[in-house]
Amino acid sequence: MNLKENLAVSLAKLSTNAIRSLRLGLGSNLPGRIARRVAPNVLKQLAVQCRKGVLAVSGTNGKSTTCGFISSILNKAQLKIVHNRQGANLVTGITATLIDQASWQGKLDADYCLFEIDEATLPVVAAEIDIAAIVVTNLFRDQLDRFGELDTTARLIEKGIAINHSPAILNADDPNVAKLAAGSRRIYYGIESLSASASEGGETPPLQYHGAIRELSYCANCENEYAYSLLFYGQLGHWRCANCGNARPQPTVVASDIAVSASGSTFTLRLDQEVQSIKIALPGLFNVYNALAAAAMAYKIGIDAQTIKNGLENYETLFGRSERVEISGKSVLIQLIKNPSGATQVISACATDSEKQILIAINDNYADGRDISWLWDAEFERLSEHKGKVVVAGQRAEDMAVRMKYAGIDPQKIVVVSDLSQALDRAIGLTDSAETLWVMPTYTCLLELQKILAARGLALSGT
Ligand SMILES: [Zn+2]
Repeated sequence: MNLKENLAVSLAKLSTNAIRSLRLGLGSNLPGRIARRVAPNVLKQLAVQCRKGVLAVSGTNGKSTTCGFISSILNKAQLKIVHNRQGANLVTGITATLIDQASWQGKLDADYCLFEIDEATLPVVAAEIDIAAIVVTNLFRDQLDRFGELDTTARLIEKGIAINHSPAILNADDPNVAKLAAGSRRIYYGIESLSASASEGGETPPLQYHGAIRELSYCANCENEYAYSLLFYGQLGHWRCANCGNARPQPTVVASDIAVSASGSTFTLRLDQEVQSIKIALPGLFNVYNALAAAAMAYKIGIDAQTIKNGLENYETLFGRSERVEISGKSVLIQLIKNPSGATQVISACATDSEKQILIAINDNYADGRDISWLWDAEFERLSEHKGKVVVAGQRAEDMAVRMKYAGIDPQKIVVVSDLSQALDRAIGLTDSAETLWVMPTYTCLLELQKILAARGLALSGT
């Protein structure tokens, strides 16, 4: 490190301390901005100190949980990692993370850097640091006010992979992802089958995961609509173009015989030739994909199958990502929602829980997306069988109440409490000891919830 870079590290650390001691936040971006202004090379100079390399995770949904699983596996492998676990996934946040973990002299003691990277930021980071492997989880149509078309996002990710010819670890089941980085080394992961017991008689698995609604997707070669022999959700499944033969690639990291419940999932994990039975404590098929993506990354960097199993099974959830906490003696599961595809998966997992209460908190600040029309594309209809009340909170509580009414919930059962702290108390009061309270907040509601719980003296992970 040169003098300028050392100065950048010191200034950033001082500003982090100031931000934290004044309780202005976590200091997850501003210190990075300051450091990069003083020494534009600072990120690179820190990252090259990693003994084994930099790993990245990008894609629409599941970045934080996939990184969490990878982190858990690497910890079990006794590897030292630096990880932007607060989800600051832009270049300033990634720089701030490295500085925070480095010494005042700018020395970084780590085997791996593990970064969750925003799709549009990936080429920016890749231009500065050599990324040893990049996982792409999935590519769904996101809130359109963010960066426009799906094709633009795909191009940005491809550019990020191409800059250093990074090996790409791709979801074979998502045609939007499987087609990426044709010129690079690619490893595929995918779901082979759901549990045989999911279909009657245990013969052929059902064509569709229960209630799966298909998102149309078109062949990258000839624009013909894909046909599916198995559909899990959205555009994820076993796809094939009947016109030109373009089809789902055969994955080397595979989950099969998956049984999903509201409290967790079991599946058989195959890493090339090796087979392990896995049990994860996170609900929903989407979390099986996250575990699989992490297993594929760990496999790529040479971690053995037993350690991968240990890491997946002993994963401690991040705040707001399927995390379970106990509040006033009641079991609470907090799951961030931020776009239609991700929210629909959370709603599906929630719908399978027969002993539940529900709190949905919606804000429309910049970080949530100002346009809340996405609430109409998320399938809240799947909660229409819910017998209890639904508490809605946040700046857009009234809009959410309207949404739930149209989703088929009796308006008498919709409780509007805008203030999140009061809404939480109300929902906790409705929850009995055998039930789980499912809390589904948007991003800034999640941050608010974090503050509310911290003020009540609850220790939370990832904070
Ligand atoms: Zn085709």
